[in-house]
Amino acid sequence: MKALSSFEGEKISMDIFQKINGHEQVVFCNDEATGLKAIIAIHSTQLGPALGGCRMLPYKSTEAALEDVLRLSRGMTYKCAASDVDFGGGKSVIIGDPTKDKSPELFRAFGQFVDSLNGRFYTGTDMGTSPEDFVHAMKETNCIVGVDEAYGGSGDSSVPTALGVIYGIQATNRAIWGSDSLAGRGYSIQGLGKVGLKVAEHLLDAGADLYVTDINLDAIERLSEKAKTMGASIKAVNSEEIYTVPADVFVPCALGGIINDDTIPLLKVTAIAGSANNQLLELRHGEMLQARGILYAPDYIVNAGGLIQVADELYSSNKERVLQKTRAIYDTLTDVYRHAEADGKTTVEAANYFCESRIAARSKRNSFFSHTKRPKWAVRS
Ligand code: NAD
Repeated sequence: MKALSSFEGEKISMDIFQKINGHEQVVFCNDEATGLKAIIAIHSTQLGPALGGCRMLPYKSTEAALEDVLRLSRGMTYKCAASDVDFGGGKSVIIGDPTKDKSPELFRAFGQFVDSLNGRFYTGTDMGTSPEDFVHAMKETNCIVGVDEAYGGSGDSSVPTALGVIYGIQATNRAIWGSDSLAGRGYSIQGLGKVGLKVAEHLLDAGADLYVTDINLDAIERLSEKAKTMGASIKAVNSEEIYTVPADVFVPCALGGIINDDTIPLLKVTAIAGSANNQLLELRHGEMLQARGILYAPDYIVNAGGLIQVADELYSSNKERVLQKTRAIYDTLTDVYRHAEADGKTTVEAANYFCESRIAARSKRNSFFSHTKRPKWAVRS
């Protein structure tokens, strides 16, 4: 199988070293027998081995794939630092169509490349890949996380992710209204998938009012049924209306880039706290929210529950520990809000500063990570 024959002969016009500046290592993986074309980017191992999922997408070019993996691996450095998991930032992408180009052999080949990094990079599922794909990769390396419990993994990561969102909303409510209580407030939820549905159910249980939207009408129907059994009701709105409803907190649990020049003027909420990755289209949109008096909970802090769970697999998975670290999202966010206010920064600037300070402080003790200096906890039998 040839995954992407159109890539043959493609010229890379950029200066690669300039492009990967700031990253420790970028590995191009090419296996002609299986058609695997993948890129592994390790942004930083200052806090520990790099950790980050593997995306499979039919990227238009190698440059587009490289751009994506560099951006995502850098983001993982911040997310790992914020959630205090002793991992650094990394990410991988497989260039190919997940509906056509997958095979067990392709993922085994990918697993071999991961293994060749000797414990510097741990990976698992992300967009376009599933836990089952990584059961094949696991045959070649111990550096796989997030497979099903039946295969020794920690299972569905959306459970701790949703819980982390709830803690994030509670910290946000306290910062604005002086109380953690979820009850009696209105929440507008965009996306009722694995995370959004669990968040919605929790909020309904707590006595909240919900506006919801999803392009999948079955998801809305499922939540409506659940609400009826609880004697509650939800207001379903369309994809555009969700930005305009008079809720207190907007909870994005679907797409990235939805906080932008077009949507910010429409918002009537006082805060935004949800699971979607990269909610701000650009950094300056954090400033626009601040100018409008809307408190923004940085997404990589709020949605870290899943990361906390997979990172914990290296200590052999303990649900109580995962819960405890997920609960800490509340405290981290509270600190970020306090610093943002004290220093006149946006919450995103304060969060980034918090992560950079933590990395600087800890990396004085952790020098460049390599298998020769591998901490005991990172060695799995
Ligand atoms: P999912 O695919 O299960 O759910 C996404 C939902 O959003 C789906 O029901 C989909 O129909 C809906 N949707 C898509 N486009 C929409 C639109 N335009 N308007 C309204 N609804 C729309 O994904 P998930 O696992 O629930 O993750 C949700 C978000 O949280 C994603 O951005 C994901 O990257 C992020 N996230 C998830 C996890 C996790 O553990 N699952 C962890 C961190 C971050």
